[in-house]
Amino acid sequence: MEKTDILNLLPEELAEECKAMGAPAYRAKQLFRWLHVRRVSSFAEMTDLSKQFQQELQKQFYINRLKMQQTLASHVDDTVKYLCRLSDGNCVETVRMAYHHGATACISTQVGCKMGCTFCASAPLGFVRNLTASEMLGQIYAADEGCPASERIAGVVLMGIGEPLDNYDNVIRFLRLISCPEGRNMSLRHVSLSTCGLVPMILRLAQEALPVTLAVSLHAATDDVRSALMPINRRYPLAELMDACRSYFAATGRRITFEYAVIAGKNDTPQAAAELGTLLRPVFSGQRPHVNLIPVNPVAGTDFQAGSAQRFRKLLERESINATVRRTLGEDIQAGCGQLRRNTLEQTANETNLKGA
Ligand code: SAH
Repeated sequence: MEKTDILNLLPEELAEECKAMGAPAYRAKQLFRWLHVRRVSSFAEMTDLSKQFQQELQKQFYINRLKMQQTLASHVDDTVKYLCRLSDGNCVETVRMAYHHGATACISTQVGCKMGCTFCASAPLGFVRNLTASEMLGQIYAADEGCPASERIAGVVLMGIGEPLDNYDNVIRFLRLISCPEGRNMSLRHVSLSTCGLVPMILRLAQEALPVTLAVSLHAATDDVRSALMPINRRYPLAELMDACRSYFAATGRRITFEYAVIAGKNDTPQAAAELGTLLRPVFSGQRPHVNLIPVNPVAGTDFQAGSAQRFRKLLERESINATVRRTLGEDIQAGCGQLRRNTLEQTANETNLKGA
Protein backbone atom coordinates (compact mmCIF):
# COMPACT_ATOMS: atom_id res chain seq x y z
CA MET A 1 0.00 0.00 0.00
CA GLU A 2 1.33 3.42 -0.92
CA LYS A 3 1.64 5.74 2.04
CA THR A 4 -0.18 9.09 2.18
CA ASP A 5 1.54 12.39 2.92
CA ILE A 6 -0.17 13.27 6.18
CA LEU A 7 0.75 16.97 5.88
CA ASN A 8 -1.73 17.24 3.00
CA LEU A 9 -4.72 16.45 5.17
CA LEU A 10 -7.14 19.06 6.51
CA PRO A 11 -8.25 18.69 10.16
CA GLU A 12 -11.58 17.16 9.17
CA GLU A 13 -9.84 14.63 6.91
CA LEU A 14 -7.44 13.75 9.69
CA ALA A 15 -10.44 13.24 11.97
CA GLU A 16 -11.93 10.83 9.42
CA GLU A 17 -8.68 8.89 9.22
CA CYS A 18 -8.44 8.69 13.00
CA LYS A 19 -12.03 7.48 13.15
CA ALA A 20 -11.26 4.79 10.59
CA MET A 21 -8.37 3.67 12.80
CA GLY A 22 -10.68 3.49 15.80
CA ALA A 23 -9.08 6.48 17.54
CA PRO A 24 -11.15 9.18 19.24
CA ALA A 25 -11.65 12.52 17.45
CA TYR A 26 -9.37 14.47 19.82
CA ARG A 27 -6.44 12.40 18.53
CA ALA A 28 -6.79 14.20 15.22
CA LYS A 29 -6.40 17.55 16.99
CA GLN A 30 -3.28 16.32 18.80
CA LEU A 31 -1.88 15.01 15.56
CA PHE A 32 -2.53 18.23 13.68
CA ARG A 33 -0.71 20.18 16.39
CA TRP A 34 2.29 17.88 16.25
CA LEU A 35 2.40 18.23 12.49
CA HIS A 36 1.69 21.93 12.01
CA VAL A 37 2.62 23.65 15.27
CA ARG A 38 5.37 21.53 16.80
CA ARG A 39 6.38 20.37 13.32
CA VAL A 40 7.98 17.09 14.28
CA SER A 41 9.45 14.89 11.56
CA SER A 42 8.46 11.47 12.91
CA PHE A 43 5.49 9.82 14.57
CA ALA A 44 7.77 8.57 17.36
CA GLU A 45 8.16 12.18 18.55
CA MET A 46 4.43 12.46 19.22
CA THR A 47 4.84 11.56 22.85
CA ASP A 48 1.22 11.84 23.92
CA LEU A 49 0.15 9.21 21.37
CA SER A 50 0.40 5.51 22.29
CA LYS A 51 3.18 3.50 20.72
CA GLN A 52 0.57 1.36 19.02
CA PHE A 53 -1.15 4.37 17.45
CA GLN A 54 2.22 5.76 16.35
CA GLN A 55 2.95 2.48 14.60
CA GLU A 56 -0.43 2.45 12.89
CA LEU A 57 0.18 5.96 11.63
CA GLN A 58 3.62 4.95 10.45
CA LYS A 59 2.09 2.13 8.39
CA GLN A 60 -0.30 4.40 6.52
CA PHE A 61 1.34 7.81 6.41
CA TYR A 62 4.60 9.65 6.03
CA ILE A 63 5.61 13.17 7.07
CA ASN A 64 6.95 15.02 4.07
CA ARG A 65 9.39 17.62 5.44
CA LEU A 66 11.29 19.56 2.79
CA LYS A 67 15.04 19.75 2.78
CA MET A 68 17.02 22.77 1.77
CA GLN A 69 19.56 21.95 -0.89
CA GLN A 70 20.99 25.45 -0.88
CA THR A 71 20.52 28.60 1.21
CA LEU A 72 21.77 31.95 -0.02
CA ALA A 73 21.63 34.98 2.25
CA SER A 74 21.89 38.40 0.65
CA HIS A 75 24.64 40.77 1.76
CA VAL A 76 22.73 43.86 0.65
CA ASP A 77 19.45 43.20 2.49
CA ASP A 78 17.91 40.49 4.68
CA THR A 79 16.62 38.41 1.78
CA VAL A 80 17.28 34.68 1.96
CA LYS A 81 16.81 32.39 -0.98
CA TYR A 82 16.30 28.67 -0.65
CA LEU A 83 16.51 25.91 -3.16
CA CYS A 84 14.09 23.37 -1.69
CA ARG A 85 14.64 19.75 -2.53
CA LEU A 86 11.45 17.72 -2.89
CA SER A 87 11.24 14.03 -2.01
CA ASP A 88 11.40 13.00 -5.69
CA GLY A 89 14.62 14.96 -6.24
CA ASN A 90 13.01 17.93 -7.98
CA CYS A 91 13.83 21.42 -6.73
CA VAL A 92 11.86 24.64 -6.35
CA GLU A 93 12.73 28.08 -5.05
CA THR A 94 11.50 29.90 -2.00
CA VAL A 95 12.50 33.42 -1.02
CA ARG A 96 12.26 34.96 2.43
CA MET A 97 11.99 38.74 2.33
CA ALA A 98 12.18 41.14 5.25
CA TYR A 99 9.60 43.91 5.17
CA HIS A 100 8.89 46.45 7.92
CA HIS A 101 5.58 44.65 8.65
CA GLY A 102 7.30 41.26 8.99
CA ALA A 103 8.87 38.49 6.97
CA THR A 104 7.17 37.44 3.75
CA ALA A 105 7.80 34.18 1.92
CA CYS A 106 7.58 33.95 -1.84
CA ILE A 107 6.74 30.34 -2.59
CA SER A 108 6.59 28.17 -5.70
CA THR A 109 3.41 26.34 -6.68
CA GLN A 110 4.69 24.07 -9.48
CA VAL A 111 7.96 22.50 -10.56
CA GLY A 112 8.38 24.52 -13.73
CA CYS A 113 5.56 26.23 -15.59
CA LYS A 114 3.48 25.76 -18.76
CA MET A 115 2.67 29.40 -19.38
CA GLY A 116 5.71 30.33 -21.46
CA CYS A 117 5.99 34.05 -20.58
CA THR A 118 8.84 35.30 -22.76
CA PHE A 119 10.62 37.28 -20.01
CA CYS A 120 10.53 34.53 -17.37
CA ALA A 121 13.52 32.43 -16.29
CA SER A 122 11.35 29.35 -15.71
CA ALA A 123 9.61 29.31 -19.09
CA PRO A 124 12.37 27.69 -21.19
CA LEU A 125 12.69 24.83 -18.70
CA GLY A 126 9.09 23.73 -19.21
CA PHE A 127 6.70 22.06 -16.81
CA VAL A 128 7.51 19.08 -14.63
CA ARG A 129 4.67 18.69 -12.14
CA ASN A 130 2.32 20.35 -9.69
CA LEU A 131 3.35 20.86 -6.08
CA THR A 132 1.16 19.33 -3.41
CA ALA A 133 -0.34 21.52 -0.68
CA SER A 134 2.12 19.94 1.72
CA GLU A 135 5.04 20.98 -0.47
CA MET A 136 3.79 24.58 -0.50
CA LEU A 137 3.40 24.54 3.29
CA GLY A 138 6.77 22.88 3.61
CA GLN A 139 8.44 25.87 1.96
CA ILE A 140 7.03 28.16 4.65
CA TYR A 141 7.87 25.81 7.48
CA ALA A 142 11.40 25.50 6.15
CA ALA A 143 11.75 29.28 5.85
CA ASP A 144 10.55 29.57 9.47
CA GLU A 145 13.10 27.12 10.75
CA GLY A 146 15.54 28.47 13.29
CA CYS A 147 13.70 31.80 13.55
CA PRO A 148 12.42 33.19 16.84
CA ALA A 149 8.62 33.51 16.95
CA SER A 150 8.84 37.26 16.28
CA GLU A 151 10.64 36.65 12.97
CA ARG A 152 8.40 33.93 11.65
CA ILE A 153 6.83 34.29 8.23
CA ALA A 154 3.92 36.73 8.55
CA GLY A 155 2.84 36.86 4.93
CA VAL A 156 3.00 34.74 1.81
CA VAL A 157 3.06 35.57 -1.87
CA LEU A 158 2.39 32.84 -4.41
CA MET A 159 4.80 34.38 -6.88
CA GLY A 160 7.56 31.83 -7.09
CA ILE A 161 7.91 29.26 -9.85
CA GLY A 162 4.65 28.10 -11.43
CA GLU A 163 1.14 29.31 -12.15
CA PRO A 164 -0.95 28.92 -8.97
CA LEU A 165 -4.30 28.83 -10.79
CA ASP A 166 -3.01 26.00 -13.01
CA ASN A 167 -2.69 23.98 -9.79
CA TYR A 168 -6.00 25.14 -8.43
CA ASP A 169 -7.10 22.37 -6.06
CA ASN A 170 -3.75 22.03 -4.34
CA VAL A 171 -3.42 25.80 -3.95
CA ILE A 172 -6.87 26.06 -2.36
CA ARG A 173 -6.00 23.18 -0.05
CA PHE A 174 -2.76 24.96 0.85
CA LEU A 175 -4.69 28.16 1.66
CA ARG A 176 -7.06 26.21 3.89
CA LEU A 177 -4.20 24.47 5.67
CA ILE A 178 -2.09 27.57 6.28
CA SER A 179 -5.07 29.44 7.72
CA CYS A 180 -6.28 26.62 10.02
CA PRO A 181 -6.65 28.08 13.51
CA GLU A 182 -5.43 24.75 14.96
CA GLY A 183 -2.29 24.93 12.84
CA ARG A 184 -0.24 27.77 11.36
CA ASN A 185 -3.25 30.12 11.71
CA MET A 186 -2.08 32.66 9.13
CA SER A 187 -4.59 35.29 8.12
CA LEU A 188 -5.34 34.97 4.42
CA ARG A 189 -5.35 38.77 4.32
CA HIS A 190 -1.59 38.39 4.40
CA VAL A 191 -1.54 36.11 1.37
CA SER A 192 -1.28 37.24 -2.25
CA LEU A 193 -1.91 34.96 -5.19
CA SER A 194 -0.45 35.99 -8.51
CA THR A 195 -1.78 34.75 -11.84
CA CYS A 196 -0.88 35.29 -15.47
CA GLY A 197 -4.63 35.49 -16.16
CA LEU A 198 -6.41 32.12 -16.31
CA VAL A 199 -9.89 33.60 -16.66
CA PRO A 200 -12.07 30.59 -15.70
CA MET A 201 -9.98 30.04 -12.60
CA ILE A 202 -10.18 33.70 -11.56
CA LEU A 203 -13.96 33.37 -11.75
CA ARG A 204 -13.82 30.17 -9.73
CA LEU A 205 -11.58 31.75 -7.10
CA ALA A 206 -14.07 34.59 -6.75
CA GLN A 207 -16.61 32.05 -5.48
CA GLU A 208 -14.34 30.61 -2.76
CA ALA A 209 -14.80 33.60 -0.43
CA LEU A 210 -11.16 33.52 0.64
CA PRO A 211 -9.79 36.94 1.65
CA VAL A 212 -6.55 36.56 -0.31
CA THR A 213 -5.26 39.42 -2.43
CA LEU A 214 -5.36 38.56 -6.10
CA ALA A 215 -2.53 39.89 -8.25
CA VAL A 216 -2.82 39.75 -12.02
CA SER A 217 0.37 39.83 -14.07
CA LEU A 218 -0.61 42.31 -16.71
CA HIS A 219 2.64 43.68 -18.18
CA ALA A 220 0.87 45.30 -21.14
CA ALA A 221 -2.31 47.22 -21.91
CA THR A 222 -2.90 46.08 -25.49
CA ASP A 223 -3.47 42.59 -26.86
CA ASP A 224 -0.67 43.00 -29.40
CA VAL A 225 2.00 43.75 -26.81
CA ARG A 226 0.62 41.34 -24.21
CA SER A 227 0.29 38.41 -26.61
CA ALA A 228 3.89 38.92 -27.70
CA LEU A 229 5.02 38.80 -24.06
CA MET A 230 2.58 36.25 -22.64
CA PRO A 231 1.15 33.43 -24.80
CA ILE A 232 -1.78 33.04 -22.36
CA ASN A 233 -3.16 36.33 -23.73
CA ARG A 234 -4.02 34.59 -27.00
CA ARG A 235 -6.27 32.23 -25.07
CA TYR A 236 -7.75 34.86 -22.72
CA PRO A 237 -7.34 38.31 -24.28
CA LEU A 238 -7.50 41.53 -22.29
CA ALA A 239 -11.24 42.16 -22.70
CA GLU A 240 -12.01 38.76 -21.15
CA LEU A 241 -9.40 39.22 -18.46
CA MET A 242 -10.77 42.63 -17.47
CA ASP A 243 -14.30 41.21 -17.37
CA ALA A 244 -13.07 38.50 -15.03
CA CYS A 245 -11.37 41.15 -12.84
CA ARG A 246 -14.61 43.12 -12.69
CA SER A 247 -16.54 39.99 -11.70
CA TYR A 248 -13.93 39.16 -9.07
CA PHE A 249 -14.27 42.63 -7.58
CA ALA A 250 -18.08 42.45 -7.69
CA ALA A 251 -18.10 39.07 -5.94
CA THR A 252 -15.42 39.74 -3.31
CA GLY A 253 -15.27 43.51 -2.88
CA ARG A 254 -11.50 43.16 -3.09
CA ARG A 255 -9.45 45.20 -5.50
CA ILE A 256 -6.93 43.34 -7.60
CA THR A 257 -3.27 44.35 -7.80
CA PHE A 258 -1.83 44.48 -11.31
CA GLU A 259 1.78 43.44 -11.74
CA TYR A 260 3.71 45.25 -14.43
CA ALA A 261 7.32 44.47 -15.34
CA VAL A 262 8.70 47.61 -16.93
CA ILE A 263 10.53 46.72 -20.14
CA ALA A 264 12.49 49.44 -21.92
CA GLY A 265 10.92 50.42 -25.22
CA LYS A 266 8.22 47.71 -25.05
CA ASN A 267 5.69 48.76 -22.44
CA ASP A 268 7.05 51.91 -20.77
CA THR A 269 6.08 54.68 -23.19
CA PRO A 270 3.66 57.57 -22.45
CA GLN A 271 1.28 55.88 -24.89
CA ALA A 272 1.48 52.62 -22.90
CA ALA A 273 0.66 54.56 -19.71
CA ALA A 274 -2.38 56.18 -21.38
CA GLU A 275 -3.57 52.80 -22.66
CA LEU A 276 -3.17 51.31 -19.20
CA GLY A 277 -5.28 54.14 -17.78
CA THR A 278 -8.04 53.52 -20.31
CA LEU A 279 -7.94 49.79 -19.61
CA LEU A 280 -7.90 49.89 -15.81
CA ARG A 281 -9.90 52.94 -14.72
CA PRO A 282 -13.30 51.32 -15.37
CA VAL A 283 -12.49 48.02 -13.66
CA PHE A 284 -13.27 48.87 -10.01
CA SER A 285 -16.30 51.12 -10.47
CA GLY A 286 -14.45 54.37 -10.09
CA GLN A 287 -12.03 53.24 -7.37
CA ARG A 288 -8.43 53.79 -8.34
CA PRO A 289 -6.66 50.74 -9.70
CA HIS A 290 -3.35 49.75 -8.17
CA VAL A 291 -0.35 48.77 -10.29
CA ASN A 292 2.81 47.24 -8.88
CA LEU A 293 5.79 48.14 -11.04
CA ILE A 294 9.03 46.21 -11.17
CA PRO A 295 11.88 46.84 -13.59
CA VAL A 296 12.08 43.66 -15.65
CA ASN A 297 14.76 41.35 -14.36
CA PRO A 298 16.98 40.56 -17.36
CA VAL A 299 17.12 36.80 -17.90
CA ALA A 300 19.74 34.88 -19.87
CA GLY A 301 18.64 34.20 -23.45
CA THR A 302 16.33 37.23 -23.66
CA ASP A 303 17.15 40.76 -24.74
CA PHE A 304 14.71 42.53 -22.40
CA GLN A 305 16.16 45.58 -20.70
CA ALA A 306 14.73 47.15 -17.56
CA GLY A 307 12.83 50.38 -18.09
CA SER A 308 12.60 53.12 -15.47
CA ALA A 309 9.85 52.12 -13.06
CA GLN A 310 9.93 55.56 -11.38
CA ARG A 311 9.45 57.37 -14.65
CA PHE A 312 6.57 55.08 -15.61
CA ARG A 313 5.03 55.53 -12.14
CA LYS A 314 4.86 59.26 -12.75
CA LEU A 315 3.21 58.67 -16.12
CA LEU A 316 0.61 56.44 -14.42
CA GLU A 317 -0.11 59.03 -11.74
CA ARG A 318 -1.34 61.36 -14.46
CA GLU A 319 -3.70 58.57 -15.50
CA SER A 320 -5.24 58.36 -11.99
CA ILE A 321 -3.56 55.03 -11.36
CA ASN A 322 -1.90 54.34 -8.03
CA ALA A 323 1.41 52.77 -8.80
CA THR A 324 4.06 51.51 -6.43
CA VAL A 325 7.53 50.44 -7.38
CA ARG A 326 8.44 47.10 -5.92
CA ARG A 327 11.74 47.12 -4.11
CA THR A 328 14.22 44.83 -5.79
CA LEU A 329 15.53 42.53 -3.08
CA GLY A 330 18.35 40.06 -2.97
CA GLU A 331 19.91 41.04 -6.26
CA ASP A 332 23.22 39.51 -5.24
CA ILE A 333 21.64 36.08 -4.69
CA GLN A 334 19.62 35.65 -7.88
CA ALA A 335 16.44 36.23 -5.87
CA GLY A 336 14.47 36.95 -9.05
CA CYS A 337 12.38 33.83 -9.14
CA GLY A 338 13.41 30.89 -11.24
CA GLN A 339 17.00 31.98 -11.65
CA LEU A 340 18.57 29.87 -8.95
CA ARG A 341 16.80 26.68 -10.06
CA ARG A 342 17.64 27.42 -13.66
CA ASN A 343 21.30 28.09 -12.95
CA THR A 344 21.54 24.98 -10.81
CA LEU A 345 19.89 22.80 -13.47
CA GLU A 346 22.12 24.26 -16.18
CA GLN A 347 25.20 23.73 -14.05
CA THR A 348 24.21 20.11 -13.39
CA ALA A 349 23.60 19.61 -17.13
CA ASN A 350 27.03 21.07 -17.93
CA GLU A 351 28.73 18.87 -15.38
CA THR A 352 26.94 15.82 -16.78
CA ASN A 353 27.99 16.79 -20.31
CA LEU A 354 31.57 17.26 -19.16
CA LYS A 355 31.53 13.85 -17.48
CA GLY A 356 30.04 12.32 -20.62
CA ALA A 357 32.63 13.98 -22.89
N1 SAH B 1 2.54 32.51 -12.71
C1 SAH B 1 2.20 33.57 -11.81
C2 SAH B 1 3.13 33.73 -10.63
C3 SAH B 1 4.59 33.48 -10.82
S1 SAH B 1 5.58 34.72 -11.52
C4 SAH B 1 2.07 34.87 -12.56
O1 SAH B 1 2.32 34.89 -13.76
O2 SAH B 1 1.66 35.85 -11.97
C5 SAH B 1 5.57 36.06 -10.38
C6 SAH B 1 5.64 37.41 -11.02
O3 SAH B 1 6.96 37.66 -11.54
C7 SAH B 1 4.69 37.59 -12.20
O4 SAH B 1 4.12 38.87 -12.15
C8 SAH B 1 5.63 37.45 -13.39
O5 SAH B 1 5.07 37.99 -14.55
C9 SAH B 1 6.86 38.16 -12.87
N2 SAH B 1 8.10 37.90 -13.58
C10 SAH B 1 8.54 36.75 -14.13
N3 SAH B 1 9.74 36.92 -14.70
C11 SAH B 1 10.08 38.20 -14.48
C12 SAH B 1 11.22 38.98 -14.85
N4 SAH B 1 12.23 38.47 -15.55
N5 SAH B 1 11.24 40.28 -14.46
C13 SAH B 1 10.21 40.80 -13.75
N6 SAH B 1 9.12 40.12 -13.39
C14 SAH B 1 9.04 38.83 -13.76
